[in-house]
Amino acid sequence: MRAIVFLLFVILVFLILRFTLNRIIEIRRQNREKNASQTQQASSLNPEEQPMVRCAECGVHLPQSEAYFDGQHTFCSEGHMQAYHRKQQEKHEQDSAEN
Ligand SMILES: [Zn+2]
Repeated sequence: MRAIVFLLFVILVFLILRFTLNRIIEIRRQNREKNASQTQQASSLNPEEQPMVRCAECGVHLPQSEAYFDGQHTFCSEGHMQAYHRKQQEKHEQDSAEN
């Protein structure tokens, strides 16, 4: 009787492992397919159809893929990103000087 219970337990564990492995393989395959279709979509998009962002320095609008992003704001060029950060830095220094 114990042997049968043990055998059933082994079969159960085997089935669970197989199921889990299948799930992992399936999820990985789906992710790969999703990534592949996303890159295809991105390359077929016109600049007009891309999401537009605004330069925090001069206010010009440009496609997100061409913008510079510092983690908070978007900019039309690296120069404007640096200029904006310099201004912020100066403003911060003025504020701390006044206080
Ligand atoms: Zn700009």
